[in-house]
Amino acid sequence: MFPLLGQLLKQMLSRPFTNLFPAKYAPKSINKYLQGVQEGKVKINPPVEVPDDFRGKITYDREKCIGCKMCIKVCPAKAIEFKEEEKKIRIYIGRCIFCSQCNDVCPVDALHMSKEFLLASDNKLDENFIVE
Ligand code: SF4
Ligand code: SF4
Repeated sequence: MFPLLGQLLKQMLSRPFTNLFPAKYAPKSINKYLQGVQEGKVKINPPVEVPDDFRGKITYDREKCIGCKMCIKVCPAKAIEFKEEEKKIRIYIGRCIFCSQCNDVCPVDALHMSKEFLLASDNKLDENFIVE
């Protein structure tokens, strides 16, 4: 009983673990909020630091790519397609499950998992979600 009360008091007096991201309080209008951010009038609370091995949006170095299709073979989400005419790939981030298998298998180190995680959109074919 006493340890529980102690823990309760400790929790009540400590700061919350949640990160107030991107805003301290929900804005009345998200459009006005985003406009304020763009104009530099509103400051976004920074997100928490992510670890070095974080698996965020994939980056693709098309110059390094030799078109071996290994990434396509291992991708469990069928998020990568082969562009036959160029012998290069196109990645649909909207399908990606961030497993990093393509990154691990690529023989020429052309794929990397970045730290970018701000990927919310109502359009899965947004140009930000197509990597090629
Ligand atoms: S990280 Fe996984 S799901 Fe995403 S493209 Fe690579 S293999 Fe496919
Ligand atoms: S595994 Fe690497 S080299 Fe092979 S097609 Fe994919 S990105 Fe290109």
